[in-house]
This record gives sequence, structure tokens and C-alpha cells, in this order.
Amino acid sequence: PPAVRLDRLLANLGYGSRREVHALVRDRAIVLDGQAVSDAGARISLTPDLPERMTVKGAPLDPPAPLVLMMHKPEGVVCSHREPGRSVYELLPSRWRSRTPSLSSIGRLDRDTTGLLLITDDGAFLHRVISPRSNAPKRYIATLRDPLRGDEAEIFGRGDLMLDGEDRPLAPARLEVLGPFLAQLTVTEGRYHQVRRMFSAVGNQVLGLHRDRIGALDLPADLPPGAWRRLGPADCAAVL
Ligand code: URA
Repeated sequence: PPAVRLDRLLANLGYGSRREVHALVRDRAIVLDGQAVSDAGARISLTPDLPERMTVKGAPLDPPAPLVLMMHKPEGVVCSHREPGRSVYELLPSRWRSRTPSLSSIGRLDRDTTGLLLITDDGAFLHRVISPRSNAPKRYIATLRDPLRGDEAEIFGRGDLMLDGEDRPLAPARLEVLGPFLAQLTVTEGRYHQVRRMFSAVGNQVLGLHRDRIGALDLPADLPPGAWRRLGPADCAAVL
């Protein structure tokens, strides 16, 4: 495993500036394998079990990068760092907002969309998921203003739907009717407000939108709105 200087590791995890980390070392607040670390420049091997072996002020070390999280995004929060008080990042531990590399969502859900949102500091993973070549299917449940007409599955499935203001048709998307006002729609792209705009293109309006699956990764039934958990390698592999 790679090794990093202790002061850099903790500064990158948001515990403070290097100077503040040096103060923690002087206060014997950083403990590795039961012993206070005395050298802020010590090289720490980033083994997966490090958070179980190191404590900072008595609490387990935050997990180092790379980190991939899934969140059940609630209504009313945005996938932006720029709206203090209303962002998905504020549902995470506050120190995590000071991490380097920073966490960002893999694609975005609208303020009023709920459901499965991935968040990571792993740029390579993020780009693989959002790359047009990955085509990871994203599944949505849409609640509609008007009853389905019956031709939507055919129109969305053809792969020639043009959204307003765009110059390239959408790739084929799969629609399943769940009820008169309820549809499941699986898309492989991630265009701006894509699902809402697809239903406007067929004269309808999305009143509620929920994403329950990305690739083969389902939003777990036991993850309530606002809750999140870390993804292991198997769950990450299920995304792509
Ligand atoms: N499509 C939308 O219109 N909104 C979302 O949040 C996601 C997909």
C-alpha cells in the first residue's frame, strides 16, 4: 500500500492545517496501534485497516481516500457545494467538507428528485461512471401529472427523440408502465433534466421523480432518505 506523511494525511482528511496537525501530535492526540505518534512526519502506510488502528482525539481515523458512498438523497437538497444549508454534502460528517481530494456527486439529481446518489473522491471512478461510453443504466420512477397515453414506450425506445435546444437525439430508453400516472424509465445518458424533459416532449409533466438503481446497484430498502453508507469494491463493480 502507498505511504504518506502523517501531517499530510490528516490535513487532507480535514483535521486541520499541517500546523494544527503538529499540535495534535504534540498533545499526543494521535494514536497508532495503541501508541501516541511522536513524529508528525512519520510515514504511514495506507493499509485498509488503518481506521481501526489509528485514533485522533480518541475517535477512529476517518476513512482515507478513495471513498465511494451511496446516499438516499432526500427532497429539497441540491448536489452542489454552493448552497449552504441545502446541500447533500451537509448530510455527511462536517469534517468531510474539508477533505482533499474533495467529494463530489457522480452526476446530479434535481432538488426535488429523491433516491440513489453516488458520491466519491475518486476522480477516475467518477469519470468512468459518467463517461458516455460507460452507458450505465439509471432507473427512475416518475409520477406524472397526466395519465400515460400508451405510445411513450415506443417513442422513448426508438432512439430518435430530440429534446428542446439539443442537436443530438437521445439514445433509446426503456419505459415500463407501472400505473396510469406512474412509469419506470431507464436511461443510459445523463442529460440536463433528462427525465423531466422527456416527459414534457410527450406532453406530460413529472410531478415526482425517484432514482432506484444505477447499473446493477439498487437503492437498499433499509437506507432511509438522508442516510448514506460506504460502498465496497463489489458494490462499485455493480455500478459499471
Ligand atoms: N432527470 C431529471 O429530469 N432530473 C433528475 O434529477 C434526474 C434525471
